[in-house]
Amino acid sequence: MSVTPPGLSIDLSALVANWRALAELSAPAVTSAVVKADAYGLGVEPVAKALHSAGCRHYFVATLDEARQLAHCLDSDIRCYVLGGAPLGLERECASLGVTPVLCSLSAIRRWRAAGLAGRDCAVKIDTGMSRQGLGLAELDDLLAAPALLRELNPSLVMSHLACADEPHHPQNSRQLAEFRAREAALRQVLPNCRLSLANSCGIYLGKEYHFDLVRPGAALYGFQPPQNEMAPAESIRPVLTLALPTLQFKRLEVDSSVGYGATYNKPQGAILAVCAGGYADGVHNILQSQGVGELSGVEVPVAGRISMDITTFDVTAVPNVEQWLDSVDSLPAIQIINRSLTLNRLTQERHLLGYELLTTLRGSRCPRVYRGEV
Ligand SMILES: *Cc1c(COP(=O)(O)O)cnc(C)c1O
Repeated sequence: MSVTPPGLSIDLSALVANWRALAELSAPAVTSAVVKADAYGLGVEPVAKALHSAGCRHYFVATLDEARQLAHCLDSDIRCYVLGGAPLGLERECASLGVTPVLCSLSAIRRWRAAGLAGRDCAVKIDTGMSRQGLGLAELDDLLAAPALLRELNPSLVMSHLACADEPHHPQNSRQLAEFRAREAALRQVLPNCRLSLANSCGIYLGKEYHFDLVRPGAALYGFQPPQNEMAPAESIRPVLTLALPTLQFKRLEVDSSVGYGATYNKPQGAILAVCAGGYADGVHNILQSQGVGELSGVEVPVAGRISMDITTFDVTAVPNVEQWLDSVDSLPAIQIINRSLTLNRLTQERHLLGYELLTTLRGSRCPRVYRGEV
């Protein structure tokens, strides 16, 4: 039996295949990569480098610190958009770093201009209905009606963000599309060299009319399968990560016992447990909450009792031949908690967890990351 290396194992060739599949679907639009939050917890440096070698040249991060980190690991032939914009007082630093801040309000635009940076590379975000960041539609319409400021600013990208792209039939999608479309001709007239962008991962699968000039996938790159439709056949996105908890000990209960803090889980004498490294300090409680399961030898095994800071215990009694490891002095098989069968989509749907949160809370985890796959 093969033993999975402990930790988070990231398949860079699957990542690259996902980016290529999205690029093919979105062509002729440019396909960027959203690598904020340390590439959703997968590690920005190897992820960005793999995508760069596949031809990706447009990257989105959330903060200026993330942009600095990206600049360290990639050549300067990229465009790095900072979704959070230029922090107050750091406008000139953004420009000298060569990053593209996403200006999300009139005051951000005024600050950029007051810093003498109008005409330096920037992007503008508009709010077509999510009510998060972005210029209001009335504000945009005023700018388009008297376009001197927009022309002077000369953004290379005007973007908006969909609130419900993961629900293909939600009427909010077509509402936001219509608001964006209604400004398309005026934007193209005032800013003939500017790209327009609306779609995140799921937005790409809503159809060609959502693609505009540039698409911004994050989640799908990392293995989230979009809701299936004619544009998204099953398996169009490959799984990218495996997460396994190293087994510290297999043990057989000598008497009827409870397991873990609070004595909340009871098993009879003879039950076999796998005591594994990894607990809430590693972020794994998010994945294993609400009746979490792991997998050992192809068998799904439930979490036994409460998850502790550093330890999680599984009930492995049902695994055939599990006794072989009870007194083993060899390395023990790990318990997988994300794999080809326990996919991010399955965790998200069946157990009502937020997949994005699962990934990003693994950041700073003590599980080492292992990268595999040809790039
Ligand atoms: C995070 C983010 C994305 C990526 O979204 P996914 O659903 O992960 O594809 C795209 N655009 C903006 C503005 C974002 O904040």
